Amino acid sequence: MTQRTPIIAGNWKMHNTITEAAALVTALTKAGNKNHAEIIVAPSYTSLHIVTRLTKDSEIQVAAQDVHWEDKGAFTSAVSPIQAKDAGATLTLIGHSERRSVFGDTDEILNKKVAAAMRHGLKVIFCVGETLQEREAGKTMQVIEGQLKNGLANFTEEQLNGIIIAYEPVWAIGTGKTATPEQAQEVHAAIRAYLAKTYSDKFAQATRILYGGSVKDTNVDEIMAKPDVDGALVGGQSLIAEKFARIINFN
Ligand code: PEP
Repeated sequence: MTQRTPIIAGNWKMHNTITEAAALVTALTKAGNKNHAEIIVAPSYTSLHIVTRLTKDSEIQVAAQDVHWEDKGAFTSAVSPIQAKDAGATLTLIGHSERRSVFGDTDEILNKKVAAAMRHGLKVIFCVGETLQEREAGKTMQVIEGQLKNGLANFTEEQLNGIIIAYEPVWAIGTGKTATPEQAQEVHAAIRAYLAKTYSDKFAQATRILYGGSVKDTNVDEIMAKPDVDGALVGGQSLIAEKFARIINFN
């Protein structure tokens, strides 16, 4: 099996002033990285520049939380991939459940955002996940396969090379409710099987699949122990330096 480098990513959402973001990332540069993981933080746009500057000599990579699909234009409040890159981002989240449910990002919009990010060389962390209602109706994989099929439509395996998938069950985000390691493993394995069926086994084995949803310092070890879990996308606990440092240095 392909050896996949783990990824620990923190999504800071709409938190932190520039001063707070600078203090947090400065603490994280001293966190160590015993698993040689790829460490990513996704600050608000306002802090992208300072966080990039402060991580220049560290292993921490900087992601945008979203990008618009156009390069520029009359899109008040939006940020283009060119602007995110200019501020220092080398990656971007696309399709976070809050973008889907609060801001109405559809699969079609997300597909355009993925294209725009890739056009400008931003690595994509593409988020998928089911609601509680969908899970209880037995539709988890149907929903996720639809999100992958439509969100990543019209790209070849070569174009998608390096894409990172984040499985984030909506019912586990910010709720304190974590999927059990077994539930996470089951869905991750099914996503990998979908990638193998749709692209190739080589692509499926090489693609990192992150789990997100109330990952904490106290549950990261058991989640990361699962064979198809290649990393974590962390919200709440990525805002607390000691907690996120412990997650980065999972056992
Ligand atoms: C997230 O927003 O991606 C997330 C997983 O949040 P939390 O860890 O707070 O559940």
